[in-house]
Amino acid sequence: MLIVMHQKATQDQVDKVVNEIKARGYKALPIPGGDRVSIGVLYNKGAIDPTIFISMPGVKEAIPITRPYKQVSREFHSEDTIIRVGDVFIGEGHMVIMAGPCAVESEKQAITIAEKVKQCGAHMFRGGAFKPRTSPYTFQGMGEEGLKILAKIRREIGIPVVTEVMDYESFDMVEHYADMIQIGTRNMQNFSLLKRAGKAKKPILLKRGMSATIDEWFMAAEYILEGGNREVILCERGVRTFVRHSRNTLDISAIPYVRNESHLPIIVDPSHAAGRREQVIPLSRAAIAAEAHGLIVEVHHEPENALSDGAQSLYPEQFDLLCRQVRDIFGIFEKQHKEEQLR
Ligand code: PEP
Ligand code: MN
Repeated sequence: MLIVMHQKATQDQVDKVVNEIKARGYKALPIPGGDRVSIGVLYNKGAIDPTIFISMPGVKEAIPITRPYKQVSREFHSEDTIIRVGDVFIGEGHMVIMAGPCAVESEKQAITIAEKVKQCGAHMFRGGAFKPRTSPYTFQGMGEEGLKILAKIRREIGIPVVTEVMDYESFDMVEHYADMIQIGTRNMQNFSLLKRAGKAKKPILLKRGMSATIDEWFMAAEYILEGGNREVILCERGVRTFVRHSRNTLDISAIPYVRNESHLPIIVDPSHAAGRREQVIPLSRAAIAAEAHGLIVEVHHEPENALSDGAQSLYPEQFDLLCRQVRDIFGIFEKQHKEEQLR
């Protein structure tokens, strides 16, 4: 349930509602809004009688939350969440582009690619230091050395970095170096990792599990919000289907669904969806046309020599074309929104 207070409700009235919620054995979560406070009620089993609260001074409405995910849903929080990473804004009205290699392979490789993607207009640099590989015999990532290279890129090239955390044990280390922490598709339901992410002081990029429904994905995000970290960006990266022409199937319909149901930003990873370079640009255009809030794209200056995911990595020139095309598409929405505001 969400209890919406009157615009002029006093702090004392808010406190009384909070105490009433706690007295019933539930958790109260005050959410300050633009012009009024709302108070979320959590951990109730079954419906709560709204008349208990409606009769209290200062209360405007008591709205039942019908979804299993509470804090992720628009019922709970109607305004779009916008997340700031340095000078980069992620969410409604912005288009963020994150780009870089699948893995940090060496300082030279990472810096070469970071300079190129920044020149093309990327806002953030991506690169894995801990790699979740299907085979134990393939490159597993550079570990902390890779994280140090990422920190150097932020410092010297001036671009924030996103990198994957693979387990609970290395969380503190990744949090120390990264501007944004990625939880990969294979870990979407690693609940101890999600609980730790809820305590993190950095935004979390939560990828959709390759076989997860959207409700399961939302519930995973709910763990992070419930832990106290409200900065979650959802990332659709394709789901496992029966097809052979792509690595995964990009679920474009997830974008409008997520936008309707949740206030959290949603971005798209066309690279892991496609698995093939030639599909990455068309899928990126489709994602931005469907109003995703941005992209995370794999780029490599020598993809034939990449230690992971070379086949889906764009050449820098292709990435440049991608950026120009998606900026044009995003520009159509920007123009329309501006015209609507003038009307
Ligand atoms: C990645 O971003 O390099 C990655 C491993 O992604 P995913 O978890 O979506 O497979
Ligand atoms: Mn990859």
